[in-house]
Amino acid sequence: MRYNINAMYFSDKLHEECGVFGIFGHPEASRLTYLGLYALQHRGQESAGICTSDGNKHCHHVGMGLVADIFNMDTLDRLTGDMAIGHVRYSTAGSSIITNAQPICVNSKIGPLALAHNGNLVNTDELKAKLVQEGAIFSGTTDSEVMVHLMARSRKETLPEIVIDALSQVKGAYSILVMSKDTMIAVRDPMGFRPFCIGQVNDAWVLASETCAFDMVGGKYFHDLNPGEMVIIPKNGEIQSIQAFPPAKKLQQCIFELVYFARPDSLVYSQSVMQFRKAIGHQLAIEHPAKADVVISIPDSANCHAIGFAEQSGIPYDMGLIRNHYIGRTFIEPRQSIRDFGVKLKHNAVSSVLNGKRVVVVDDSVVRGTTSRKLMKMIRAAGAREIHLRIASPPYTDPCYYGVDTPDPSKLIAANMTVEQIREYIGVDSIGYISIEGMLSCVGTHSHKFCTSCFTGKYPEEALPNCETCKTCSSK
Ligand code: SF4
Repeated sequence: MRYNINAMYFSDKLHEECGVFGIFGHPEASRLTYLGLYALQHRGQESAGICTSDGNKHCHHVGMGLVADIFNMDTLDRLTGDMAIGHVRYSTAGSSIITNAQPICVNSKIGPLALAHNGNLVNTDELKAKLVQEGAIFSGTTDSEVMVHLMARSRKETLPEIVIDALSQVKGAYSILVMSKDTMIAVRDPMGFRPFCIGQVNDAWVLASETCAFDMVGGKYFHDLNPGEMVIIPKNGEIQSIQAFPPAKKLQQCIFELVYFARPDSLVYSQSVMQFRKAIGHQLAIEHPAKADVVISIPDSANCHAIGFAEQSGIPYDMGLIRNHYIGRTFIEPRQSIRDFGVKLKHNAVSSVLNGKRVVVVDDSVVRGTTSRKLMKMIRAAGAREIHLRIASPPYTDPCYYGVDTPDPSKLIAANMTVEQIREYIGVDSIGYISIEGMLSCVGTHSHKFCTSCFTGKYPEEALPNCETCKTCSSK
């Protein structure tokens, strides 16, 4: 039986929905997009795709799985043209099927149109019902396809007008790239939920979810798109930036991008992810000090937070857990007797670091708590005398509707247990979560621009999920 270890292990982690990359005016557009997507692979591993344009027609290739498995030299050679948009996907809205892979490519009254979307809309159901009533046929099940339908049905004439017309009907999170045969458009939603940055490679414009994609292709980062900003890059003309929608009074940039999703070598919201995570570690050590001999992280996602904790506390940092980077699919039957093997395949404890020690373990978040519990057992079995778990985000109590795959609220440990009950369940000597205020203090004077809904259960008025989207009542 072919068993997906990643799916099993990562069920206890939050998942970012997608990453997008676009390039305009480069003879190697498809190859650079491939590399950009490769750098953004951590944002989605279920499917990927690239659509290119040579000024007349679109070429398109999508597939299920990892970027490196989907594309080869032949497919990239067939993707001709000097403009391209690409997408990596982890499904939150819609199932994991090939028809939901992006970019979505259609023919419209203004010619070929392609769309790549990062984020999640909250009014998809009513828009879709209306479109279906009017005769629209959907091939997939994503919210992104709704945007394409709205664009295809718009009565406006030019691409920027069509995009604005469609987006004025949607609510929620979107950082999107739209490409016609000769124009590329990038838009970030007015609340700025998801990051979106712009830069250049030589004379070509590049856009991406994170700056690590620019580093990969030798690009230079300029700035993040403002919430509500639209960048228009036409084939024959100057790049333009317009404020397509006024920025929301209260911006909602996802704080989890900085805490966990983004790569530490990226700039997100113009801020170094690495520096933010170290600052979180400092703050965590101030809020929840521990008497210990060593600080370790749950690698790799909590490495920077743990280094910050060690810097602030003066307790040495060491590698008490080693992560195996090469797991994927394996041929093992998931029998009860080996039910914990997923955690062991992914991480192993280093007893020479842990034996007889009082250990601070730093993790970025605890979602269900099941993996944390197994890891703490493993650390204890390696000889740790005491375990003090420190968590670099506040208790995750409520679902995200803006592009992060959250388990049903009944499965969120912090929604169902007190901190003391969590400590007992996970099996540690002490536990400490960073406070919301402490976390926000690490973004300095910009703290008012961030979304914290999954820690508070308070959702922005302009992006309240409708009944079909919200899972909260049905789960209780
Ligand atoms: Fe990010 Fe949480 Fe807000 Fe979702 S609810 S956008 S995960 S901060």
